[in-house]
Amino acid sequence: MSADPLESPTAAGWNLDHSYSRLPGLFFRKAAPAPAKNSGLVVFNDALAVSLGLNPETLQQPDQAALFTGNLLPPGANPIAQAYAGHQFGHFTTLGDGRAILLGEQLTPDGRRFDIQLKGSGRTAFSRGGDGLAALGPMLREYLISEAMHALGIPTTRSLAVATTGESVFRNEELPGAVLTRVAASHIRVGTFQWAAAHEDRAALEALADHTRRRHFPGFEEASHLDFFHAVMERQASLVAKWLQVGFIHGVMNTDNMALSGETIDYGPCAFLDRYDPTAVFSSIDHAGRYAYSAQPPIARWNLARLAEAMIPLLHEDGKKAVELANEALHQFEGIFQNHWLDGMRTKLGLSNEEADDRVLVQQLLDWMHQSKQDFTGTFRSLSTEAALDQPAFPDAAFAAWHAAWKARLSRQADGPAEILYRMQSHNPRVIPRNHKVEEALNTATQHGDLSAFNKLLAAITQPFAETGDDEFTAPPPAGSPRYQTFCGT
Ligand code: AMP
Ligand code: MG
Repeated sequence: MSADPLESPTAAGWNLDHSYSRLPGLFFRKAAPAPAKNSGLVVFNDALAVSLGLNPETLQQPDQAALFTGNLLPPGANPIAQAYAGHQFGHFTTLGDGRAILLGEQLTPDGRRFDIQLKGSGRTAFSRGGDGLAALGPMLREYLISEAMHALGIPTTRSLAVATTGESVFRNEELPGAVLTRVAASHIRVGTFQWAAAHEDRAALEALADHTRRRHFPGFEEASHLDFFHAVMERQASLVAKWLQVGFIHGVMNTDNMALSGETIDYGPCAFLDRYDPTAVFSSIDHAGRYAYSAQPPIARWNLARLAEAMIPLLHEDGKKAVELANEALHQFEGIFQNHWLDGMRTKLGLSNEEADDRVLVQQLLDWMHQSKQDFTGTFRSLSTEAALDQPAFPDAAFAAWHAAWKARLSRQADGPAEILYRMQSHNPRVIPRNHKVEEALNTATQHGDLSAFNKLLAAITQPFAETGDDEFTAPPPAGSPRYQTFCGT
């Protein structure tokens, strides 16, 4: 079924393997990208290409643009659509890649393996009523935000290229069609396990579990399935803690959008907090706030419970015992998450040692930010200056009281101001992809074909901790801006 691995990389650096396609046939279907009328490369990620062992000069030759719409397949490609299920807003459905095609796994010169996937390249066996296509705006949006997350040090799928197809995509209006080349440690999701479980195919489930741990959990190759589950849980706890620390709201944490690798995946209706509000929701369809900012840790746990359910046949031969083991593991999620979260928040406040009251100190600051409607990113960055260590950065009595406690706390660790500032400035970003700037850049790109704003924003968000740079990208949205809304499946 799968093509033979290449004996050596091609001139462009392609070196594709297909370990996923060696899984039981239940997990995928053959697929073929739809022909595009006219392939045009819009953005290309030189640095990512180099890290994959690909040659950016060769790949940006005009005749190579067709690679990034699927008109031309890289040597050794074996295009497939992956099968999966998922709980969408709590409801179980069978899904699969309806608009994504996996070309293969690029083996890098340093021995890593990355999925190369085209998103928006036409219908597959799993498209149901969908057209399999994507519009330029949302693909540019995924490119921007995934690259911003990477620069912020958060595990994420990445974006190699966006190319237009020369075809129209019809949503509420006619839009330019485009394909995103997505790069991921893998696209194995909680929903992939749910797919195997729904088919009651224990052998397939075990093959998937073994494949996943070999691929993503070095050291766990020989471990029990339960230990593997713990490792997955640990990675999700760490990931969601990192999201909260930069004010990220994924927006659609369905179980099909949770990757076992621990990478952030599926940038649909995601957004970043501006003023701090734990109940913040941006997605137009998330009426109940299921995926609100502070709901993300309990939702991660809920999703992991669905993974545990799917893995029950692997956890113990006695079903009752398996459920007990799963529950015991899941009970630990909250504690694991809280430790990751508090560690990260300590770092944001410049702390290097631990004191019993640190959680209270962090919470008091967050409560003050909430009550006084402070910008999340801006507040932490404002604290990260020499002057702000010494004197309250906000003229406010409540803040002054908190500042005195923080200053006293900082004095009870060994580090001097230089070390504290270094820690804070390398963990509190100055630039995040501000919602209003992202919209502005996408509008200029899609409506006027002008990528200058997009490229300027991309340059800023890929240097998020730089001390200087255009203030245009650090300011919160202008007062009186309408509430920001994001959309799914665009
Ligand atoms: P998402 O909300 O992006 O996680 O997508 C949920 C499911 O819908 C996945 O199975 C997607 O492959 C599928 N899907 C989303 N958009 C389309 C489309 N335009 N055509 C076909 N399938 C789609
Ligand atoms: Mg998805």
